[in-house]
Amino acid sequence: MLTKEKLLSQIENEKQAILQRGEDFFLCAELGFSEVKTAKEITNLLDEWGVPYQKEVAVTGVVATLGKGDGYHIAFVADIDALPRKGGLGNIHSCGHSIQTTMALSVIKALLASGIMEQTDCKVSFFFTPGEEYIDFSYREGLIAHGKIEFLSGKQNMIALGCFDGVDCVLSAHANGDVGTKFDVGSTLAGFMAKKAVFVGRAAHSGAAPHLGRNTLHGAILAMNAISFLKDQFDPQRGLRLNPVLTEGGGSVNVIPEETVLETYVRANDNETLFEACRRVDACLELCAKALELQCIITNTAGYLPLKQSAALNQTVKKNMLLFSKPEEIVENPVSGASGDVGDLGFLIPTIQFGFSGIKGRFHDDTFAIADYENCYITSAKVMLGTIYDLLMEKTCRVYPKEFERRKKDYLSTLRRKN
Ligand SMILES: [Zn+2]
Ligand SMILES: [Zn+2]
Repeated sequence: MLTKEKLLSQIENEKQAILQRGEDFFLCAELGFSEVKTAKEITNLLDEWGVPYQKEVAVTGVVATLGKGDGYHIAFVADIDALPRKGGLGNIHSCGHSIQTTMALSVIKALLASGIMEQTDCKVSFFFTPGEEYIDFSYREGLIAHGKIEFLSGKQNMIALGCFDGVDCVLSAHANGDVGTKFDVGSTLAGFMAKKAVFVGRAAHSGAAPHLGRNTLHGAILAMNAISFLKDQFDPQRGLRLNPVLTEGGGSVNVIPEETVLETYVRANDNETLFEACRRVDACLELCAKALELQCIITNTAGYLPLKQSAALNQTVKKNMLLFSKPEEIVENPVSGASGDVGDLGFLIPTIQFGFSGIKGRFHDDTFAIADYENCYITSAKVMLGTIYDLLMEKTCRVYPKEFERRKKDYLSTLRRKN
């Protein structure tokens, strides 16, 4: 039987190629759903290595699978998109997604070269996911209008396309901004949903015949009150944040306003709170409008779900981190205000996203740069590969999704609900 040590040595053998690949992907920075060159570089390598794949999944995504058996199915998810530089000067991988892309390819190459997949009935699928950053809405809305995608983010579309059906667990890693440590494990990510409510009424002369109008500002203000009373009914621990603003409402003091727009994010720390709050905010909006004979048209733009990581999987991840770092170099369960579409996967399937340090400069800023190549490209890949080894070899490490079908149905109907 292949030892873990032997498998991990494949990363050392490939070190120079990995570092070069990392540099190439870092410089190939493309925005979400435009990652054409990046996808081409990925599929060129997969062709060279003889790995079967599907391309152009959700426009620019690539899915490659190793192993032919029908046993345990592990997914490794790697983001591939970048962010714009300041002042329209091209793009930059200022969230470090190129490191994830590189890591996925390092793991594929190591699994292939070791021959381990021939000794198991398990599968490992690699999802190169486009459009993780929640940006560039007009371009993405155009893609939605042309039927190219259904939702704003890569993983959301891949879930809807059924790419994750049959997957038993999801592994991922993301660069973190920590200094003086090597890894983090069990971090949270916040979740949010964006809501826009258009109140439609009837204009009238506000002096001569206000009673003939239907004042939409009144409806919106009534709803604002209902929403602030609603907050009182949620335990503060659930992290509900509702701060509605009126972005349109009334233009002239002489006219009863016939259209008012209220917008809010619904933010929460867990899925149950997010779903319940969305449903009850809709009720506040719709019923307050109805009370005053107004119409209310609600548009939901799906943000990302909060990430709740699989504690069982993280035990295995941490065990592998400890092969390369001291306990004090691992940050456990940090709370993060950031969001990511990996949160959506975590709602459906046991999921982890560990963090690795080695970045200098600021995230989402042109100062972002890789400082510790060894930790970003080599040690992190070994932690991921070691975790995959344990899942392939030790049945006791494995976890499975619960009620995947029902959860996916609920999830998609929430995303698709417009009013
Ligand atoms: Zn980011
Ligand atoms: Zn990111």
